Amino acid sequence: KKYFDYCASAPVHPRVHEVFMKTTQEVFANPSSIHKMGEEASSLAEEARKGIADLLNVDSKEIVFTSGATESNNLVLFGVTKAAKKKEKGIHIITTPIEHSSIYSCCRFLENENIEVSYVPVDTKGVVDITCLMKLIKRETILISIMHVNNETGVIQPVEQISANIKKLRKDIYFHVDGVQGFGKVPLKLDNIDMYTLSGHKIGAPKGIGILMIKQHVQVDPIIYGGGQENGLRSGTLNLPCVMAMAEAIKIAKQNIEERISELNEMYVALFSAFSSIPSIVINSPMPAQAPAHIFNFSIPGIPSALTLKLLENYDIIASSQSACSSKGEKLSRVLMAITGNQEIASSSVRISIHEDMDKSNLEYLISTVLSIKDAFTSKR
Ligand code: PMP
Repeated sequence: KKYFDYCASAPVHPRVHEVFMKTTQEVFANPSSIHKMGEEASSLAEEARKGIADLLNVDSKEIVFTSGATESNNLVLFGVTKAAKKKEKGIHIITTPIEHSSIYSCCRFLENENIEVSYVPVDTKGVVDITCLMKLIKRETILISIMHVNNETGVIQPVEQISANIKKLRKDIYFHVDGVQGFGKVPLKLDNIDMYTLSGHKIGAPKGIGILMIKQHVQVDPIIYGGGQENGLRSGTLNLPCVMAMAEAIKIAKQNIEERISELNEMYVALFSAFSSIPSIVINSPMPAQAPAHIFNFSIPGIPSALTLKLLENYDIIASSQSACSSKGEKLSRVLMAITGNQEIASSSVRISIHEDMDKSNLEYLISTVLSIKDAFTSKR
């Protein structure tokens, strides 16, 4: 099988796997237990937390471990609105129409609960219109949530510039960034960012671990109640093997970022130039100089995504169309509809996502297979 779906999930890094196995086997006590073995487990977790905080340049108290980015994003939206509701003031949230479903669905739910949500438009490249965003801010605005790198097209949002603009206008508005697809690929400073979401299984850690970086001034209520772990913000026995694995994965992701970017970039340029010379293929991802280089999205108008993916799979090529979390049952990409407004493009998109350690010779095979699938269809018409 030739796997091109690394941004749906990436393999666990061998060093991370080692840490995970060692912790599972050797440190099985509950980190919340007050006996010696519990304390040992807890101090390992705190060491991991400190390591992560240092690498992100935040305080240890600002790292909350969750079950994944979906939970982190739910905690942001529901936790912040819940805390704000107690103040009995108006609540207004701003986001984009191209967020991952773990933000988008929460916003739709909140709208049903009579909370006002504004969706700032994106331009034809998928980039947020900052002027429009600033105009949407009003007295009631409490939270703005914008992703760093889009999981379908790879478009990068200028989140540092956006956060600087927001903070210049109003320091009391919380700014959240879903950093899942950008981490380890596009450098980002968290100085003006109040909350930041990460997912383990996209960066070489196992599934089932995520992080919410949440600055100490943010007023947020928990959405999961129980034993009061994670400073009361996220009850539940800490998943120590995954926490240790996450710390290792973050360390690795930070270590060789430049090398990774240049390897990915080389592959991305090859994909981009090959696909841009194929007539009747539309590229939905940014130009190489503006791309994070691990996500490449194209459409073959007239061939539904599901069909192209099935045909590719017949040639042992594994790709995807929308994010794995929303691909079941949906024919149209909400993200590409918001960006292009074009139903044909949004219903025929294919997402290729690549990894620095993959077999690079597979790219040629992918390109020629896509070409032959497209030719088979266009010649029939
Ligand atoms: N946000 C983005 C941008 C994503 O790509 C994903 C994973 N598809 C998530 C959130 C959800 O991550 P998790 O699988 O850790 O819940």
